[in-house]
Amino acid sequence: MTSDKFLPSRRGFLGLAGGAALLAANVGPARAQKVATRAKIVILGAGAAGTALANRLVERLEGAEITIVDGRAQHWYQPGFTLIAAGLKPADYSVSQTAEWLPAGVTLVAEYAAEIDPEARTVTTAGGTKLQYDYLVTAPGLSLDWDAVEGFDLGMVGRDGIGAVYAGPDYAAKTWAEMDRFTSEGGKAVFFRPATEMKCAGAPLKYTFLTEDYASRKGNRDKVEIEYWNPSGALFGVPIVAEKVRMLFGDRGIGTQMRMVLKRMDPGRKVLTFEDADGIEHETDYDFTNVIPPQRAPEVIRQSGLSWADKWVDQGWVEVDQYTLRHNRYPNVFACGDVAGVPKGKTAASAKWQVPVVEDHLVAQIAGDTTDTTYNGYTSCPLITRVGRAMLIEFDYNNLTPSFPGVIAPLEELWISWLMKEVALKATYNAMLRGKA
Ligand SMILES: Cc1cc2nc3c(=O)[nH]c(=O)nc-3n(C[C@H](O)[C@H](O)[C@H](O)COP(=O)(O)OP(=O)(O)OC[C@H]3O[C@@H](n4cnc5c(N)ncnc54)[C@H](O)[C@@H]3O)c2cc1C
Repeated sequence: MTSDKFLPSRRGFLGLAGGAALLAANVGPARAQKVATRAKIVILGAGAAGTALANRLVERLEGAEITIVDGRAQHWYQPGFTLIAAGLKPADYSVSQTAEWLPAGVTLVAEYAAEIDPEARTVTTAGGTKLQYDYLVTAPGLSLDWDAVEGFDLGMVGRDGIGAVYAGPDYAAKTWAEMDRFTSEGGKAVFFRPATEMKCAGAPLKYTFLTEDYASRKGNRDKVEIEYWNPSGALFGVPIVAEKVRMLFGDRGIGTQMRMVLKRMDPGRKVLTFEDADGIEHETDYDFTNVIPPQRAPEVIRQSGLSWADKWVDQGWVEVDQYTLRHNRYPNVFACGDVAGVPKGKTAASAKWQVPVVEDHLVAQIAGDTTDTTYNGYTSCPLITRVGRAMLIEFDYNNLTPSFPGVIAPLEELWISWLMKEVALKATYNAMLRGKA
C-alpha cells in the first residue's frame, strides 16, 4: 500500500537535513480544525520522535490527556556526536533539556517506563506509577547493548585507544581525544559495526573516513593503517552506496574484512576477536577503535509482547505495519523512531517522516475516521567522507530518493552536502522537535 500524496518528495531532505530557512513556512500539511476528545494518550520516550509527536498532537487535539514518559533529563542531538568525536564541536553541542522542548498541555513523567501491559492498556514506570492509556505510542529509541561486548566497559573510553562515539556526548569528546592522539602517533585503527540493526548505519563509516582524513591532514598517513571489519557481505544496506563506499575505501587505502562479527575484546593486549561466517575466530591488534555495540529495542519493549515474534527475534523491534506504523495486533498502539520494526529508517530523518504518519492515523482514529497517510521508508544519511565533504544519501524502502536530482548528486563527495550536516541539520532537527518540520 502506498500513497504518492504522502511520499517524501524534494522536500524530504529539506524537512530534516537541509533548507532550514524554509522551515519557517512549515512544510507539513495544512492543519484542520482541532478534534475534541478526552482520550488518554501515552508517548514512551521524549527523544526525536516522541517530542516531535507531542508537539504536533497538541495542535490537532482539544482536551486530550497527553502524557510523555522519559527518565532522561537531557535531550541528546545524536547526529552531533560524530562532529564532537571529530573535534569540530564541543560536547555540549548535543545537549539540551528534555522538558524545554515539550509544549504546554503535555505532562512529562520524568521516569523510565518499566512495564507495558497492552491487554490492560497500562504503562508502569520504574517508580511504580501506573498510567492507563487509550492510545500508546512507543518511541523509546533503542538500547545500546554494551554488555554484549565481552571485555569492554564504558569506563575504558578515552584511554588506551578506545573510543565509543555512540555512548553519549562526553564519550564522543573522549573519543576525539583518542583519535587526535592516534592520528598524531600512528599505529593501526580497527573499525567495525554490530550485526544487529543499528541507528545511523552510516556513522561507523563516517568515523572511519574521518580518521583517515585526519591522519592525512597531519601528514601522518604513512604511519597509520586502517581496517574496517564488516558483519555482512556489503558495507551498506543500499547496494549502490555499498559499492561507492567500497571504491572510496580502496582509493583511501582502508582495508576491509567482510562477514566478521566482533566477539570480544582484550583491552590489556589491545586485541579484538571477530568470528567469521563459519564460526572461526580471527584476532587483530589495534591502537585505536570505536566500539559500537549490538542494538536492540529497550528491555521494556522486549518484555511487553509488542515485538515481532518471527523477525529480529534477538532485537525485539515493535511489530508495526511498515506503512502505517500501527501495531499489527493492537490497533491502539503505534511505534515511531528507532524502535519501530520496519525494514529501513533508524535515523532522525526517518523519524521526521514517521511522526506525521502516526499523528494522522491517531487523530483519524480518535475522530472515528481513516487516513491514507503512509511512511515509505524515507531515510537519510549525510555520509561524511572528509572534513568538508559528504555524500547526501537518501533512500526509501525501494530506491535512492535524492531531494535535489541534478543539483546534489547523492554519490558525490560535496561541500554542500557537508554543510547540510555541519550547519543546517541541527536547526532543522530542532524545528522537527517543535513540530514545525
Ligand atoms: C553517532 C550517531 C550519529 C547519527 N547521525 C545521524 C544523522 O546524521 N542523521 C540522522 O537523521 N540521524 C542520525 N542519527 C540517528 C538519530 O539520532 C536517531 O535515529 C534518532 O534520535 C531516533 O529518534 P528516537 O526518538 O527514536 O530515539 P532517541 O532520539 O534516541 O530518543 C529515545 C528517548 O527514549 C527514552 N527512553 C529510553 N528508554 C525509555 C523507557 N524505558 N521509558 C521511557 N523513555 C525511554 C530515552 O531516554 C530517549 O530520550 C545518529 C545517531 C548516532 C548515535
